Amino acid sequence: MLSDLKNLMELQVADREIRRLKDEVAALPKRVAAIEEKLAATKAQLEKARAAVKGDEAARKKFESAIQDLQGKISKYRDQSLDVKTNDQYKALMHEIEFSQQEIRANEDRILDLMVNAEAREKQVKAAEAELKAETAEIEKEKVIAREKTAEDEKLLGEWNSKRAGLIAGVDPDLLRHYERVAKFRGTGLSEVRNQKCSACQMMLRPQTYNEVRSGDKVMICESCQRVLYFDPSTEAPVEKAAPAAKKGRARPRVDSAQAWFYHPNFGETGEAYLAFINNSGSSSRRVYEFESGRQVGETLGREGNYRLAFPEDLNGVIRLNGQWSEDEIDSWGEELPSVVLDGLKADLHASQRESGSSAVKHAETAPPEQAAS
Ligand SMILES: [Zn+2]
Repeated sequence: MLSDLKNLMELQVADREIRRLKDEVAALPKRVAAIEEKLAATKAQLEKARAAVKGDEAARKKFESAIQDLQGKISKYRDQSLDVKTNDQYKALMHEIEFSQQEIRANEDRILDLMVNAEAREKQVKAAEAELKAETAEIEKEKVIAREKTAEDEKLLGEWNSKRAGLIAGVDPDLLRHYERVAKFRGTGLSEVRNQKCSACQMMLRPQTYNEVRSGDKVMICESCQRVLYFDPSTEAPVEKAAPAAKKGRARPRVDSAQAWFYHPNFGETGEAYLAFINNSGSSSRRVYEFESGRQVGETLGREGNYRLAFPEDLNGVIRLNGQWSEDEIDSWGEELPSVVLDGLKADLHASQRESGSSAVKHAETAPPEQAAS
């Protein structure tokens, strides 16, 4: 692999770590601020509870002085009643006294309500005080943690930044500018190629681009997302694994599977070709690809019934091959088979031909019917 690419891969690791640390440093004050906000709310609650207690005390004083006033009135009426001349005047005074006594009882009831309520009020104040105390302690602790973590992160940031500076020096300046520009817009500037796709944007690569990325001796850019592409052999290989090693013997395609791939030695004007059939709830489709280039020939053809009944004329002299991809994936290939697929089909064809040459008897016993025709 090019040293530029290796350095970019390390640079991507450094960039990711630098971003993580910066995000963490930025998040710490936000956490402290959130607790501070909660603390302010608790303070407001405590003040409200204390104000309610004060309000109750004032009300109680008001009711008590009202009672005193009423008692004063009553003794005044009693004095006056000693001097009245008529029965009517006397009755009127007695009425006033009775009314005042009623008022006194009403005020006494109000005071009693306040006294009952005072207990709950006191509890509210105590609870808010305790909460405030706990939150104050917590925020102090959080602040200490945030300070320590920030200092630690900033030290690491410093280390990563100097590591980054060293890596940058090892990358071609034009490539570095490209990488940084894409990283700025897309979050990352580098993308691994897997199964012939750009793993960042899922775009299928052209076979030639893919081969050049795999060889690793030229910097290739994804045409779709502009990220710099690299290939890591340790994470690839599902298709190579699927193409069986000759020594172990070839995997047998299932006769009844909904998807079937064939080699056709002489398909009309195309000559050698690969045919792919897919059954899909009562109907089937056929795709034809050129043998050497993997280019699709003509449109995908659909017919009623499963492919054995719908396309019998295509199945003369064909060799059944291993191949199983989702229809979506096959559609995503577009007009051309990916080179890994093409290589896999070719390897499978050779394995099949080798087998039928070396063990014709065994082959005749176990091969699917269409293979026996070859
Ligand atoms: Zn891409």
